[in-house]
Amino acid sequence: MTATLIDGRAAAERLRQRVAARTAELAATGLVPGLAVVLVGDDPASQIYVGSKTKQAQETGIRHFDHRLPATTGTQELIALVRRLNTDADVHGILVQLPLPRGVDDSAVLAAIDPTKDVDGFHAVNAGKLALGEDATVPCTPLGCLILLREAMPSLAGKRALVIGRSNIVGKPMAQLLLQNDCTVTIAHSKTQDLPALCGESDIVVAAIGRPKAIAGQWLKPGAVVIDVGINRVTIDGKSRVVGDVDFASASERAGAITPVPGGVGPMTIACLLMNTVNAAIRSRGGTDLLRP
Ligand code: NDP
Repeated sequence: MTATLIDGRAAAERLRQRVAARTAELAATGLVPGLAVVLVGDDPASQIYVGSKTKQAQETGIRHFDHRLPATTGTQELIALVRRLNTDADVHGILVQLPLPRGVDDSAVLAAIDPTKDVDGFHAVNAGKLALGEDATVPCTPLGCLILLREAMPSLAGKRALVIGRSNIVGKPMAQLLLQNDCTVTIAHSKTQDLPALCGESDIVVAAIGRPKAIAGQWLKPGAVVIDVGINRVTIDGKSRVVGDVDFASASERAGAITPVPGGVGPMTIACLLMNTVNAAIRSRGGTDLLRP
């Protein structure tokens, strides 16, 4: 392996420490950042994610309010809960864990969240502000990717960046962030032609596809920085493993720096959620001294 490993666990720990320090400062002034977490149903993966989020919130001094609801909960009931949380002065961030059960209109539920409490950054108002280059709450995963990318490449201006994937929660906001950081950005998707050629001319590759080892190391420009967002569960030698969207073994022979899976982007997502929550609390008082990525 020749590539430098970008350590997401260590970066997430550093960010959590910054969050905890700022939370303590705020608490001393009587402002305790509060995060409401809404979990509907009993999906095991969602339960694990929510458990990690509330545990880390607690560890950093953020107060959390858990709302666990049965899988039979309907759209209107959820919207009514969200509206109550919108007006609760102790709640600065609202997180509705996705996916919601079949039959629930998740767009309507997410649209009901007050954009100032939308710590996931999924609301159309925040997506629009991000696109306009205004102060927005940015989705946690792309924000985490940006922090990791800067560790490996402090100056992004003028770099050619390829984002593979165009989802609203990862690909599109990632491309906007890179554009804001003066990269020349290409967005690829399932209909893109000649992906290997695009990879070969990119200084930065962010892979958010959801297909195990879809990106071969041989496609990469030598020295490129690779951020692998993918979380794919596969069975290797009879054992269940999590792998990324990039073929790590071949990519790490060619890239300049690369995030591992697990231990790369994943840990950053929750740390960025905590940062967004603290920033929502600061904004609720009209403050501008936000934590910056
Ligand atoms: P989506 O399924 O919403 O989007 C996947 C994107 O990849 C789509 O835009 C799709 O194109 C594109 N795509 C699919 N196949 C190809 C291909 N062969 N070549 C190029 N592009 C392709 O996924 P998400 O954005 O939600 O997530 C992507 C990955 O990131 C998943 O593995 C997910 O588990 C992971 N993830 C990890 C997080 C973390 O915390 N680390 C958080 C969120 C997601 P098209 O639009 O044309 O269909």
